[in-house]
Amino acid sequence: MKIYLSVVVASFISFSALADVGPSFKVLMRMPGSYKTFYKKVEMPDLESHNSFDGKYFKIVKGKDKEAVSFEEKDEAILQKAANAYWHLNQARDFWVYKMQSEKAESLPKITVRLDITNQYDELGHFAHDNRAPQYNNALSIPEGETPAWVPANRQDKWGQEIWFRPKKTILTKDLGPMGPNPLTVSLMALERPLINYTANQFNQRLMQQFFYPAYVTRPLHEDLIRYAGTFALMKVIVYGSRYTDNLFIDKYYYLDTVMVPEVAYHEYSHIILSDHLEMSHSTPVNEGMADYFAAVQSEKRKIYTQVSGFSNSAPKDTQEKRLYSHWDESNRFATADFTLSVLWDVRETLGEEVGDRVIYQSRKYLKTSSSTISDGLLRAILKACDDICDYPKRDKLKLYTTFGRKGF
Ligand SMILES: [Zn+2]
Repeated sequence: MKIYLSVVVASFISFSALADVGPSFKVLMRMPGSYKTFYKKVEMPDLESHNSFDGKYFKIVKGKDKEAVSFEEKDEAILQKAANAYWHLNQARDFWVYKMQSEKAESLPKITVRLDITNQYDELGHFAHDNRAPQYNNALSIPEGETPAWVPANRQDKWGQEIWFRPKKTILTKDLGPMGPNPLTVSLMALERPLINYTANQFNQRLMQQFFYPAYVTRPLHEDLIRYAGTFALMKVIVYGSRYTDNLFIDKYYYLDTVMVPEVAYHEYSHIILSDHLEMSHSTPVNEGMADYFAAVQSEKRKIYTQVSGFSNSAPKDTQEKRLYSHWDESNRFATADFTLSVLWDVRETLGEEVGDRVIYQSRKYLKTSSSTISDGLLRAILKACDDICDYPKRDKLKLYTTFGRKGF
């Protein structure tokens, strides 16, 4: 009898524990203080469903599906991605609610998150036709929308804000643009350092334009005006290319499974939070830099989007990028560079972490995706935000002027 009772008690305890605690799944994360990744089994927080990734704040679906990915999903890769997206996006929400005290994060309706979706986003129809230039190796967040009344009933749709993760596709790096040995770079490498810095600035810009224009960017960016988080990393590969001359230093293949790179989830969620002022219509150096900044703050690392074995061989973005400002940095074609991130990071170091983060969050109120440039819009917005937030605005704005000067403004 005694034994029987303790079994009952034990099973009752384990049952009630199960009732409170969601199921656990393996999630890929980075070690504190390192870029290394590891898998850890963690509990999925705030679930609303007992058998799928449908929670209070996020619902994870595959492609254009309506139903959430089931815990019984047979495709292990999808299960892994679903757990990864669900957990890291909840981390992102916690960051915004508790660290940044964002009211918007607290009141945000549930976000649908799509895995392995290749369709382009269509403002009037949600998903563009399957055959229309399928997309890979990137991620994006989309604004809420609705099909207009004239759209046939079978194509009527209405959607809230969503985050889309494209599948990874391995492509030959050389297909991205002419990446062969470049005699100009070879001779540059032989020059003295200060001269390289000076020349490399203009040199990179020229090369990037050359690589990018025909090879990759024009196609998707012109076809639908929405951000491509994935391309940023792609661009860094190419910048590396111009630095290191040739294939010896460049991976033969390029691939990026955005859902398996934690900072991409933080970046996309930041776009949604910032979209009360910085609308998600297209990519600009300012709105991408802002999303990068908060991805970097949340990940507590100097570099973000660093390689993840088997999932991404993209070159990272560096918060301490030392390059000086050039007018090329304003081009939307370079929205994926890390220059804006480094400017914002310098603001953080000037004002201190806490005030810096608040000032930069506040600065979105003075920014517009359609018109804000770095040199005028962003710097001005930061100074205005400092008026609102800094303890000693006069003194702190002087410090900021000096900081901006050091970045070449
Ligand atoms: Zn972005």
